[in-house]
Amino acid sequence: MNLRLAQRVLGSISQYHRIQGSPELVEAAEELAAILGSIGADVDVKWAYYDEEHLGGWPLTGWSLEHGAVGAGPVRLTTYETPMVVAAHSPPGNVEAPVVFAPSIDVLDKANVDGRIVVVAAHHARRAYFKAQEAGAAAVAYYRRDAPEHAVPYVGLFLTPGEAARAKIPAVAVPRSMARAFRRSGRAAVQVEGRFYVGAKMPIVLASHGDPRIAFTAHMCHPGGMVNDNVSGVAGAVALMDMAVREGVDVAVALMPEYFGSAALMETGWRPDYVVNLDMIGEDQERTGATLTLVRPPYVYASPTEAAIWSSMASRLSTSDTFSGFDKLPSYRMARARYFWGSDHDVFISRGLPSAMVNQWPDRYYHTSMDTIDKVDLHLMALLLEALLDVARRGADPEAARRYFVGLATEYGDGYACHFLRSSLGLPLPCEPRRPPEGGGPRLRGPLTGRYMEERLGTEHWLVKLVENDRRWATIVKVYIPTLMDGTRSPETIVDMVVEEYPVDRGTLTRVVEAVADLA
Ligand SMILES: [Zn+2]
Repeated sequence: MNLRLAQRVLGSISQYHRIQGSPELVEAAEELAAILGSIGADVDVKWAYYDEEHLGGWPLTGWSLEHGAVGAGPVRLTTYETPMVVAAHSPPGNVEAPVVFAPSIDVLDKANVDGRIVVVAAHHARRAYFKAQEAGAAAVAYYRRDAPEHAVPYVGLFLTPGEAARAKIPAVAVPRSMARAFRRSGRAAVQVEGRFYVGAKMPIVLASHGDPRIAFTAHMCHPGGMVNDNVSGVAGAVALMDMAVREGVDVAVALMPEYFGSAALMETGWRPDYVVNLDMIGEDQERTGATLTLVRPPYVYASPTEAAIWSSMASRLSTSDTFSGFDKLPSYRMARARYFWGSDHDVFISRGLPSAMVNQWPDRYYHTSMDTIDKVDLHLMALLLEALLDVARRGADPEAARRYFVGLATEYGDGYACHFLRSSLGLPLPCEPRRPPEGGGPRLRGPLTGRYMEERLGTEHWLVKLVENDRRWATIVKVYIPTLMDGTRSPETIVDMVVEEYPVDRGTLTRVVEAVADLA
């Protein structure tokens, strides 16, 4: 890996406050296109617009931030320190008022909120925002309970143009330490300068070398100053493309804003054979607490490419010798995990495109102003990129695939998973396959967003609450079940298929599948 190139991208792209719908996202995309062109890749920048809906998503307002500040007496933070002090998509406003702490957004009522600055946990940020505004609040200040004490959390409202027109009060994000300062002083000052606009451009940067079958994607949005999420994925994709050009390996790269951009990309008919989504690949494991993880697609998309990624990672990242030297040992924490949601691989999988994700998790600085360049491990990134380049260069290795699938077949046991693993590999496996019966069934195109479910079912619906409060169910409901709902499988078959992947209560799952089928 070209260390200088990777560091250039990390340093330079993290400067831009790349909030979706904002001008700096466009500037970052243009710089990335120029860098990719300069290393010899074929570059094609596609443009979509945020005020159009893409694949069941929602239109987003354009938003430009000029300046923001928040403080209590002498304790003060401004956008000079970090742009995250302004909640993304906050309207402008200038307020100095008493604060009121809201333990939960359900207790926001006019009597104790009117004219005050509401301090609230960042969960359900948009809903809390409008509740506070309706109750007469003058501003909203979010904090996050699980963020480091002095870190400013990244909070985004993701407003539609219609919501932006209704939004009138400024919203900021503060570290827990400042929330305590609010409590001591009883007052706070909030200032946001910026504006909404229409017609925000959405950039998608495509780059390729040769005639690629495999594509590497990374989302290029997120606040300025945040590095692992996801300038690390972007820098990794650029550095990988650089190696591919120099070594003559056929590789495609797509960089886009998360979810909105991958949905718009799928609408263009973009269709590689396999996608590897790179999201938070730079972690310094000691500092962040992370484990390098290969997030597998659902077993219906099992592929020898998945096996090749895993065996390449295991081999390249094992750089230590055993005592006698016969074997190599992993030098980093690494694991593979069953599919979980949370990045662009959701969109690809939901649209029938097999996609794995490489990701490091957990990260104690995730989505905060402390996700900075000192939390990056470039040596680990380089080893990972070499592993991924091996996959693009060599394709699937039949022996690695056999070993990998024998292991997986043992984990899944007899059943539907065995059928899909076997048909992907084309070899017998130590399990008894069961082909899912085909017939009529619900058809639903995912991913199901929280916003879509809220609009269809209301915020009080048990399914909406289940998904909001439990990330395991969010994975199953938002992506996994819709992926299986292709019109050929009955709800009963879908229940049987899901329980082979996830250890969940069958009774709850049956209710969930029925409720999702009602959305079809
Ligand atoms: Zn991310």
